[in-house]
Amino acid sequence: MKDLVEQLVKGDRLNASDLGQLLRCAAQDSAVLQLLRDNAVRTARQQFGLGIYIRGLIELSSFCRSNCLYCGLRRDNRSAERYRLTQEEVLQCCKEGYNLGFRTFVLQGGEDGTHSDEWLEMLICQMRSLYPDVAITLSLGERSEASYIRLKRAGANRYLLRHEAANKELYASLHPDGKGIEHRLACAEALQRAGYQLGLGMMIGVKGQTIEHLVEDLLLIERMQPQMVGIGPFLPHKSTPLGTEPAGDLNLTLATIAIVRLMLPKALIPSTTALASLTPRGRLEGILSGANVVMPNLSPSDVRAKYAIYENKASWGKEAAEGLSALEEELSTIGYHIDWSRGDYNID
Ligand code: SAH
Ligand code: SF4
Repeated sequence: MKDLVEQLVKGDRLNASDLGQLLRCAAQDSAVLQLLRDNAVRTARQQFGLGIYIRGLIELSSFCRSNCLYCGLRRDNRSAERYRLTQEEVLQCCKEGYNLGFRTFVLQGGEDGTHSDEWLEMLICQMRSLYPDVAITLSLGERSEASYIRLKRAGANRYLLRHEAANKELYASLHPDGKGIEHRLACAEALQRAGYQLGLGMMIGVKGQTIEHLVEDLLLIERMQPQMVGIGPFLPHKSTPLGTEPAGDLNLTLATIAIVRLMLPKALIPSTTALASLTPRGRLEGILSGANVVMPNLSPSDVRAKYAIYENKASWGKEAAEGLSALEEELSTIGYHIDWSRGDYNID
């Protein structure tokens, strides 16, 4: 396995069978996992030092017309509590976030049919004029190419659209009434054409996912060269069809993050809220596998519990904007600190 890790470190491409072998070994053999993670951490430190970028996450709406089997916000979950923030509430979050030191705001939400281009354009324009120096990231799912272009012109910079599953059959099984992986990827390509910094990614351990599927995900990520990659464990939500499935495996998640770091040394990789929700040390373990971003929750406190994509989602303490000092303290236990800059993808 050592030579496979060395090849990755050198920037050589691994074929599907080598990637599969590496993932399988790393998930089972702690020495292989440690070797992978040590190299990923070294690569991340060469790129970013000991600084961790922060992004303020604003959860715009829990309404969703989509019906992803794994997600608590899915259309058919009648017990989900739905809310939608007003523009004033979002701008209030930005004000608080800006004062706390955030220089990236992430507007994330379900695919809410009331979020027209006009509505979003107006919101983004206001954010852009009030805070000219921040990065605005969107994570609002699948929209038309014209819509992506319009929101980019209004001032958005980045877009998180996890591909979820590169494998056609797996994607279809998780989104039985969705538009298919071809459409998801067409959206990702439209975002790249529009000039966004793009984020792809997937859950680890979702029902039906095999190591071979994960290899397909890794090869897609290598091919599309996204600027951001979000990877976290699947976590069950009881009011979804996958509610009794087990959560994703920690070690396999860490191994996947480490491989992505070695494949894309400059990528912005969050230590995800799902990882922090899986296990108390999850956030640190992600960073110690090559992640370099955390996304504390900046949503108004009364709506946080309602944005339940999975159960027991961390949105307080170190996962919350108001807990930045606790986060700083936690990072310091492994020698890291918050990097307060905007944290754009470095193109040179
Ligand atoms: N509606 C948008 C953005 C919000 S969902 C979209 O789907 O793109 C953000 C991410 O949460 C999804 O991309 C998915 O990968 C993740 N997610 C949803 N349900 C999850 C679960 N049960 N466990 C872990 N991650 C989940
Ligand atoms: Fe909606 Fe996103 Fe959840 Fe799918 S993952 S149901 S699109 S919020």
